[in-house]
Order: sequence, then C-alpha cells, then structure tokens
Amino acid sequence: MNLSIVGTKGAGKGTQVGRLANDFNLVGFSTGDAFRHGMKLRSPMGLVADKYVQRGELVPDDIVNGLVEEWIWTTTPSKGIVFDGFPRTTFQAAFLEETFREMGRKLDAVIYLDVSDEVVVERLSGRRICNLCREEFHVVYAPFKNCPKQKCDGQWLRRLDEDQPSVISTLVKVFQRGIEPLLQHFEQTGRLITVNGDKSIEEVYAGIVSAVTPYR
Ligand SMILES: [Zn+2]
Repeated sequence: MNLSIVGTKGAGKGTQVGRLANDFNLVGFSTGDAFRHGMKLRSPMGLVADKYVQRGELVPDDIVNGLVEEWIWTTTPSKGIVFDGFPRTTFQAAFLEETFREMGRKLDAVIYLDVSDEVVVERLSGRRICNLCREEFHVVYAPFKNCPKQKCDGQWLRRLDEDQPSVISTLVKVFQRGIEPLLQHFEQTGRLITVNGDKSIEEVYAGIVSAVTPYR
C-alpha cells in the first residue's frame, strides 16, 4: 500500500503519517527526508540541491523530483510508503506516478486533510518562542510552566511574524487554491479520500484507517 497525505501547514499531516507508518508498517516520507538523504550521501541530485540551499534559493521542482526518485529507489519494494505533503502539484504527481510505474508500484490513494482556516489559525497562532532559551510553547496545547533549560521564567515568550493570524489565514487560502488541480486529478482517477481535518487527532486517524483498509 502506497499512500500520500496532503493538506496545509497545521492540518496535522506529520502526526497522521507517523501513526500510519507505525500501524501499517509503512515507510514515512517527507521532501525534507529526501533532501537530508541526498545531501548526506552526496548523490548527484543532492549535490545540485545543496547548491541552491547554499545560495538560499528555492530548490526547483525537477530537482525536488530527482531527490524523491533517488530516495524511492533506496526503499524496500515490498514495503509501502506514506508520503507527507508530496506531491503538491500535478507536475509532481505525474512524476511520482511515472516513477512508481517504472518500479511496478502504484499510488493507491491520496488523503486530503481538509481543514478550515479558523482551525489552522487556532492551532498555529498560539505558538510562542522564547527569545532567551529558544524553546517552543503553545498557549493552549503546551503552555509555559517552567523553562526546560532553566534559563527563564517565561517572560521572553513571543509570537513569530509567521504565526500572526492574518498571515496563517492567507497561507491556508493560497494553499487551498493551489492544491485544487491536484485534488481534481486524484478525484477523477477515483483515488481521492477527503477527511475532515478539523476533528481531533483520534477521529481523523480513525477516518483515515477505515478509508485505507481496502488497500491493505
Ligand atoms: Zn525561555
């Protein structure tokens, strides 16, 4: 079984990917993993990607694809993969499907974690970073009790610019517009599973598990 979980930042992809990987014996994958893998091995694509990163530039789509391809070829063919936030575009989707075809594998389903911008704002805008100890807290999920590094009394907590509600809300809207063609592509091929990501981690996971069980 090969799956992909897509959704905006704050949709809870990473948590769900981790649980699926654990319970269904799959390899979890994010593009960050491909980057680290390629750069560590100093693979052909890793070296090219590294040049962009060194210059502080965005790594182009085809280089990202190359890194993903290199990574996929290192996985055990009998073991399924669950992708975290990949593919993001129809270009990446076509590439992934072609790579899988060459390997005699296929992408069984794409799970879209559909979250409202209100919920994402609530989840992400509560994050606070300490200016002194650099620890991360959350006003609701992980409120400051004491400093893990015993350096502060919580007086240096601040909200990053990227965590401002208006910034998050815009990010979610841009994501939703951009992901639409990808969702349509998988809808048309009968492989799209939409799950309400506003619900609790447990409820979301239960919804995913019942939807992917036929692919086991
Ligand atoms: Zn601190």
